[in-house]
Amino acid sequence: MLTAIGDVMRKCYDRGWITTRDGNISLRKARSNTIYITPSGWRKTIIHPEHIIKCKIQDNGIVVPEGIKPSGELYMHFLLLNNAKSTRAIVHVHATNIVSAMWAGWDLQQVSEEFPEIYRYTRVGPSVAALPAISKDLALATARNVDIKPDGSYDFDIVGQKNHGVCAIGPDPWTAYEHIERLEHICEIVLKSGVKLEDFNIKQRSKRV
Ligand SMILES: [Zn+2]
Repeated sequence: MLTAIGDVMRKCYDRGWITTRDGNISLRKARSNTIYITPSGWRKTIIHPEHIIKCKIQDNGIVVPEGIKPSGELYMHFLLLNNAKSTRAIVHVHATNIVSAMWAGWDLQQVSEEFPEIYRYTRVGPSVAALPAISKDLALATARNVDIKPDGSYDFDIVGQKNHGVCAIGPDPWTAYEHIERLEHICEIVLKSGVKLEDFNIKQRSKRV
């Protein structure tokens, strides 16, 4: 599964969802206190298992080996992995059409309700406000919107992070990737359709009356 981390990174790069040094992926295996995470600043197109950093969860915190620089989003990954009861992977990238749709003001949850190809398989959470990358605020808001519970369960497989990217959760890196792929695909469809946000919102309001 460590190999999948690099493979997913390369796929995300090929699809234009990250520039060379963006994005981060982590993994925690069942019954293990080790978090595997991509390094900071490294070219993500050449990530292989030997480049992946191992951090330990200890006393409800995370221990980073001396002199090692894991992804700047480590805290966000930690919050999403801390109470996981089974193997779990987190993928954070800057999926173009999702970020574009949020930038244009689309509500990802409302849009997803219109397309079975996503709502049948992927639970889309409320988007996170525009917060600085690698900040504690972004990490906390992402965990809150994913709705991580104290028992480690969660309500949403993916959330958008405005002016930035997405964060997806799955039992392995490829499953998390698929959540991103589905949301990215419907955002592309919506943006290409030419339908105006105001018209969509009017339709939504009339549905609710
Ligand atoms: Zn990012």
